[in-house]
Amino acid sequence: MVRPVILPRALASRVLTSAPVHVSRPASVLVPTSRHLAACLTAQRRHINQHLPLRVPLAPNQEASSSATVEEATGSALQHDKGSEATFEEHPYQKQLKQWEVKKEGPNKLTGKTITLTHRDGIRIGRGRLVLDRHWLRDGCGCSSCVDPHSGQKNFGSTDVPLDLPITSCRKTEDGALEIVWQNDFLIRGRESHTSTYSPEQVDSFFTPRKEAIFPPVVFWDKQTIKRDITFIEYDDWMNNDEALAAGVRKLQTHGIFFIRNAPHSEESVISMSSRIGNLKETLYGRTWDVRSKPEAENVAYTSSFLGLHQDMLYLKDPPRLQLLHCLENSCDGGESLFSDASRAAFLMKLGPPELRNALSSHKVHYHYRKHGHFYENNHSVVDGSGHVRWSPPFQAPLRGLRKNEEGLQEYRTWAAAAVQFQELLEREEYLFEYKMQPGDCVVFDNLRVVHGRRAFDTSAGSRWLKGTYNAHDVFMSRLRVTDESDA
Ligand SMILES: [Zn+2]
Repeated sequence: MVRPVILPRALASRVLTSAPVHVSRPASVLVPTSRHLAACLTAQRRHINQHLPLRVPLAPNQEASSSATVEEATGSALQHDKGSEATFEEHPYQKQLKQWEVKKEGPNKLTGKTITLTHRDGIRIGRGRLVLDRHWLRDGCGCSSCVDPHSGQKNFGSTDVPLDLPITSCRKTEDGALEIVWQNDFLIRGRESHTSTYSPEQVDSFFTPRKEAIFPPVVFWDKQTIKRDITFIEYDDWMNNDEALAAGVRKLQTHGIFFIRNAPHSEESVISMSSRIGNLKETLYGRTWDVRSKPEAENVAYTSSFLGLHQDMLYLKDPPRLQLLHCLENSCDGGESLFSDASRAAFLMKLGPPELRNALSSHKVHYHYRKHGHFYENNHSVVDGSGHVRWSPPFQAPLRGLRKNEEGLQEYRTWAAAAVQFQELLEREEYLFEYKMQPGDCVVFDNLRVVHGRRAFDTSAGSRWLKGTYNAHDVFMSRLRVTDESDA
């Protein structure tokens, strides 16, 4: 039984929801989780500190005491988030239903701007007392007059709703819904009243933070964990079975990578596989593209040499989110694919000196693609608030992004030191997942989390041919939400 370790939001590097993120231990020895994670982190900290002039406490906000241990830091993290853990796991709204009440509106029924609800347990937002804006409520009425039942689109704009909204009544119905009767409603030019009903689930969502989109917890992985956890899904299942699709999508959320196998030997296969997620993302390389070595290649990927860990297309403002690589041929010596969990590396950087982790988020790295009639250019920090990571050394634009004064020098030097650490946390053997793709294999991975690369291969005998395509971020998120909904 693997119990997840809960890390406070500030420490978790992959946050797609407002909920705390569960992080499973990064190796597979059967020992209590927090101790094991702590041991891994101790090793990491030792490694980080060996290369650094500074010794700093690990826990964020923890003052001085360079003797702070990883165990302490991790322990306090666990303590810190105990409350949220309960909220996250209990999904408590069944028992909360019907515990709220409409606070008496009194004489402001006609002129008031709000509706006030109280909650008996009194421990949540505003000590269990909610002041809801009438305009916001009226604007959000979901009845079939207000929202077209077919298109799901609103029949009026927020600006059509008057600022003064007298009500005739406001009550809790027997089944726990909130019912408001608006006097002289604007929808029929003020001639009739309009009744809005907000379901118990909606009312409860007013009191508690958004419950939707609580995705499966992110699992940071290293070589051992990914070897244990990696999933292979049969092509036929991926294409025809919605449960297999959901399993793959969930794996992308938790681990950022999985494989499909036994895909037909066809240049169309990667299109079919990608379409199960959603629309393909067409780029300057086309709808799909081929990774095979060729002379005077326009991209280092199209040579036979070693290709260091990187992400694709960071010279775009919105780089592709998912990447699929379908192996059509791989009979050369070498050419093993390499993957590493950059989210784990970013998380570990957060446990190190603040100067370094801050440099990774503050300094912008410039990327470009400027040839053959294209001129793409963008800059990204290695980490940002989105939980995504951006790392692609081969595509860096040189001689850019330096403030040419003493402060700029300092800033750049700190970033360079941080980048060296970060790269080590990606590239060390114990973190690398190496896999030689076989014809029929298709790897699907999160391009904004998992960095990928390739060992050199020998083109004198055999051939190597991968066919790839992308899905955009929003396409993946849509598929993930649909999967999440069908799980509920
Ligand atoms: Zn309505």
